[in-house]
Amino acid sequence: MAKIQMTTPLVEMDGDEMTRVIWKMLKDKLILPFVDLKSEYYDLGLEKRNETDDQITIDSAEATKKYGVAVKCATITPNAARMDEYNLKEVWKSPNGTIRAILDGTVFRAPILVKGITPYIPTWTKPICIARHAYGDVYKNTEMKVKKGCKAELCVTAEDGSEERSTIFDFTKSDGIIQGIHNLESSISSFARACFNYALDQKLDIWFATKDTISKTYDHTFKDIFQEIFDNEYKDKFEQAGITYFYTLIDDAVARVIRSNGGYIWACKNYDGDVMSDMIATAFGSLAMMTSVLVSPDGVYEYEAAHGTVQRHYYKHLKGEETSTNSVATIFAWSGALRKRGEMDGNQELVDFAGKLEKATIDTIESGIMTGDLYLLSTLENKKKVNTEEFLDAIHDKLAEIA
Ligand code: NAP
Ligand code: MG
Repeated sequence: MAKIQMTTPLVEMDGDEMTRVIWKMLKDKLILPFVDLKSEYYDLGLEKRNETDDQITIDSAEATKKYGVAVKCATITPNAARMDEYNLKEVWKSPNGTIRAILDGTVFRAPILVKGITPYIPTWTKPICIARHAYGDVYKNTEMKVKKGCKAELCVTAEDGSEERSTIFDFTKSDGIIQGIHNLESSISSFARACFNYALDQKLDIWFATKDTISKTYDHTFKDIFQEIFDNEYKDKFEQAGITYFYTLIDDAVARVIRSNGGYIWACKNYDGDVMSDMIATAFGSLAMMTSVLVSPDGVYEYEAAHGTVQRHYYKHLKGEETSTNSVATIFAWSGALRKRGEMDGNQELVDFAGKLEKATIDTIESGIMTGDLYLLSTLENKKKVNTEEFLDAIHDKLAEIA
């Protein structure tokens, strides 16, 4: 059988622990037998990041800008325990944070639905894709405790030294707390464009919500920027694509989301996105069935699984014990990247292969073959729990029939 050819490379970012084990198996069983893979390989495993003083992460992000498409394995974000475990020179920053800052991207997360795993909200028959604005607000705040008798003010100093002041609160009756937060119009604009571009790319409606009735300057600015960019740059394109932009208050949005059937993108401010993405992931069943894509405002795409390196399974694997780790989100990261590569290069064969890879994966689970996490959730009657490798082998066999 002739393998599918690629004209342009994609960027491949390897990672850590159980997902690194899966990465190799997945390539060997599901990609390399079918595709003459052209990739520029970056090892973002923690050892290599430490060895290169994290330069490898920066290089991989720059390569992603150059080629336009990347696929990334889950990576360890170091903490104190990892310092000792890996004998690190420094507590290196989260690779995802570094890559996101270089690409100025927005993260979109979407669940993968399969028969037999019913969302906790049974009317959610289509995915709800969450877009989180990953800059500013409470995540870059300044906080203080305030003693009774103090007055707290906002003070902005202009370049010429002049000041503008506004009272936050006069703490005459009690001690208290205050918090200062900010955002940037440039960042909100990038977020808006990434959301509208992704909606067009996916041909999905997009919802956005803030608390603009209460926060008449801060949140209202988010609303205004979205509306202005939509009216000036996207209105016509949305009409042609037959999709809509819908703005509402955050509490109204939450109520509508629960009543909906899914099938749209929900753009969220930073905190809302943090909280709601965990709710959506849980409600759809499993973190192992959640894909994630980072989209930059100029149309660069980085695909990955939403979950981490599955450390607990890796330690079992190291002890020689059998694991049953779900590779679906990582497979969909690969299919997403290959499809996007194919679309960018006008390579229909590659686009078709991505669809077949996803179909083979879903068909495998719907035929009853699944990993332990899904086995616990699935309502199928003929279900069978398999180990990490057997699951990939079963998908390979299905794929070989249709590819
Ligand atoms: P995790 O890797 O997402 O795993 C947490 C638990 O969720 C697992 O122990 C497992 O539960 C379940 N799980 C997650 N993915 C699964 C899969 N594919 N198949 C089956 N079960 C799955 O989170 P963590 O253990 O908190 O974090 C481990 C490392 O990942 C950390 O060093 C963290 O920094 C990193 N991380 C990286 C990313 C990223 O690169 N995007 C994201 C998050 C975390 P059971 O043990 O009950 O089976
Ligand atoms: Mg969260």
